[in-house]
Amino acid sequence: MVGDLCEPMSDVAIVGGGPAGLMAAEVLSAAGRSVTVYDRMPSLGRKFLMAGRGGLNLTHSEDLDAFIGRYGSRSETLAPWIEAFSPIDLIVWAEGLGQETFIGSSGRVFPKALKASPLLRAWLARLAGRGVEFRLRQEWTGWNVDGDLTFKSGETVRAKATILALGGASWPKLGSDGAWTALLPQVAPLAPANCGFQVAWSEVFRDRFAGTPLKALALGFGGRTVRGEIMLTASGIEGGGVYALSSALREAIAASGPAKLEIDLRPDVSTGRLQAKLAASGLGQSQANVLRKAGLNAAEIGLLREAGHVPKEPASLARRIKSVPVQLIAPQPLDRAISTAGGVTFASLDADLMLRERPGVFVAGEMLDWEAPTGGYLLQACFATGVAAAKGVLKRLS
Ligand SMILES: Cc1cc2nc3c(=O)[nH]c(=O)nc-3n(C[C@H](O)[C@H](O)[C@H](O)COP(=O)(O)OP(=O)(O)OC[C@H]3O[C@@H](n4cnc5c(N)ncnc54)[C@H](O)[C@@H]3O)c2cc1C
Repeated sequence: MVGDLCEPMSDVAIVGGGPAGLMAAEVLSAAGRSVTVYDRMPSLGRKFLMAGRGGLNLTHSEDLDAFIGRYGSRSETLAPWIEAFSPIDLIVWAEGLGQETFIGSSGRVFPKALKASPLLRAWLARLAGRGVEFRLRQEWTGWNVDGDLTFKSGETVRAKATILALGGASWPKLGSDGAWTALLPQVAPLAPANCGFQVAWSEVFRDRFAGTPLKALALGFGGRTVRGEIMLTASGIEGGGVYALSSALREAIAASGPAKLEIDLRPDVSTGRLQAKLAASGLGQSQANVLRKAGLNAAEIGLLREAGHVPKEPASLARRIKSVPVQLIAPQPLDRAISTAGGVTFASLDADLMLRERPGVFVAGEMLDWEAPTGGYLLQACFATGVAAAKGVLKRLS
């Protein structure tokens, strides 16, 4: 029905049925507002389900001030919304949907089911029970001259208020591809966050070790050290350890070219003890044997060699093992990142997340210009801004 105008089916049109959009639907429907959620995909919450494959780290149990500090330069901006829908509120909400949670050893909070599907199922059933309508395979393309929402199907929609919750641009096959950047004013360029980096491995190293994890490392950059593991890939490195430093690394590379990551292969052993161990096993042995006896595996020895000349003398060798330089050339492309930095700037929004240039249109979730490390901070901010945008809509409609 090309060109059909669907007169207000609902008070509120929400475009994007991920965690942020669905949370907005939750608040609005609970307040008695009629809501229609539009999504371009054949089913909702695909990235949320993908997050569930890693156990679904919903949020984090650390002290709220420390939690809010994880949003870096956006901490102050996000604070009121995260205080209004806090990690505890999120846990209570998940448990209200029958998903008991637990705190893992690192302080991260997960549902006991360690996946997203039961939560999403219960959530969608509750929303449907409250009358929320879902319009799938509806790709939003902008506004027409009358200010109605337009969809690729030809439909146009006039709603009293709109919430855009279109996500970032990582993993585009899950639905969010960042195409909306062309449709909105004042968007900070999208960039990969929690991403891997490209490294010019030698052919030999790549062929032998791509796909090998390196565990229990300490990674250092820019005066910060994080514990974690990395995965060696054919084109570089990925994994939790490097994600934690990825925002600083990305910015350093953008400012001044390749950045040097320092990898401590034995963070729990002091340089002195390592030196003694190397010296003790050194007599008459090949260097590979010395390194093996010191507990290094083949990939770690390979990494040492990739970093250039491997010193023979135990003191220098110990120092090198505790600080292997790896030259990172560029972030991996955005479509392979866990999340997206950049997005709709807060300057273009009012305190209720409404676009100043388009009264009645609110924005929530990962498409906003913030970033955070993994650890539950991503979902928490998506949920909290979904709540905030919905409250903004309620205020406006009343
Ligand atoms: C592999 C992976 C693991 C992750 N694990 C975690 C984790 O454990 N903890 C955590 O906190 N975070 C995790 N995240 C991040 C988290 O999933 C996202 O931050 C979150 O899903 C973003 O929510 P959102 O609602 O803003 O956007 P999305 O979930 O991306 O949803 C946006 C929706 O908008 C729809 N859409 C986009 N454009 C259009 C359009 N033009 N028309 C109509 N619909 C459109 C999309 O189809 C999609 O359904 C992970 C991400 C990935 C990729």
